[in-house]
Amino acid sequence: MALVVQKFGGSSLATPERVISAARRAIAQFQAGNQVVVVCSAQGDQTDQLINLAQQIHERPSPRELDMLKAVGEQMSIALMAIAIHKLAHEAISLTGAQAGIRTDSFHGKAKIKRIDTRRLQQELARGQIVIVAGFQGVDSEDNITTIGRGGSDPTAVALAAALGAERCDIFTDVDGVYTADPRIVPEARWIPRMDYDELLELSSLGAKVMQSRAVELAKRFGVALRVRSSFSDSEGTLVTDLSGEMEYVDVRAAALDLNEAKITIRHVPDQPGVAATIFSEIARANVNVDVIVQNVSERGLADVSFTVMKEDRLLALDVARGLAEKLGASGVESDENTAKVSVIGIGMRSHSGVAERMFRALADEQINILMISTSEIKISCVIEAPNGERALRAVHRAFQLDKDNSDRT
Ligand code: ASP
Ligand code: MG
Repeated sequence: MALVVQKFGGSSLATPERVISAARRAIAQFQAGNQVVVVCSAQGDQTDQLINLAQQIHERPSPRELDMLKAVGEQMSIALMAIAIHKLAHEAISLTGAQAGIRTDSFHGKAKIKRIDTRRLQQELARGQIVIVAGFQGVDSEDNITTIGRGGSDPTAVALAAALGAERCDIFTDVDGVYTADPRIVPEARWIPRMDYDELLELSSLGAKVMQSRAVELAKRFGVALRVRSSFSDSEGTLVTDLSGEMEYVDVRAAALDLNEAKITIRHVPDQPGVAATIFSEIARANVNVDVIVQNVSERGLADVSFTVMKEDRLLALDVARGLAEKLGASGVESDENTAKVSVIGIGMRSHSGVAERMFRALADEQINILMISTSEIKISCVIEAPNGERALRAVHRAFQLDKDNSDRT
């Protein structure tokens, strides 16, 4: 008998009707002959509300007590889910993280799952129960309740799927799966039937909020097949697995636009060993994440160093850059908030050549100037002017024919 883990996010459980419809999905899996473990997140934005409540009493609540409080949201959901399944005349039992054997370290608010003692889970499954587990929470070695970081029900579900050897982990959310681009910007974007873990990780780092990255990393590490699907429709969603063994795959799977980029340039820095190390260690010390970096060598042994950071870090990065310019004897600092980054991703790039060229050609044909370029094994990104962003995304999407039927693509 196969085992399937189903995870329902906050929006999928926001009302009693939605809880009942989630319960129906669990029952359908059970009736298909599978063992079923359901992982629930807190209803709607309840976690935010709980945090807010604590902050009305104390501006910096104790992390232990805050975890005690936050864990309540998921506990409500699992009880309601079990009650809904009972109402539909099936057997179900809800378990808190502790009852499900989820052991974590003691870093309240961002604990890591150490191990899962699956005995109780196995017992309940063997008794024919649909087992409902609270996401996002566990207990440390002293039985203190811990939470594992925002969006933590995703990693809970994946960890349970790994520990129980599940055939699949279904992530029910409010989107129909992953698309070749954001359909709000590219109306002809298509749903992606299958993709690789690394592709979803890259997309998440480009701002696509499909799944929590840590959960995708866990799934990759333990080889858990993920299916990202909608609670509100019957579409089959996107299956995320390891596709690296396939003989042939498409070069580009998806395109993305990230508007959260700001560019900083330090002008006329002495072109000497150690300068880049100095610049980027000081930026890192200010806790600013740098994305794309370009160094242009100009004449007379001077170079311009440009890099991009997230917009919210721009002022901080600018301060650091100004200090650096003075220290290094650079001629000045400029910043540009009006930038965007358009990217294409696909594990097929590892073996196909010419992807970069096609992307640059697509932008050139639209008269869009490229300010910076960065590449990885499975991604090419171009930093461009923000007002060109949406047009660039559509052009690139078209250039790689992502709008064409892809249902038989691997
Ligand atoms: N309820 C938690 C949060 O909002 C966990 C989750 O949604 O996955 O972060
Ligand atoms: Mg939530």
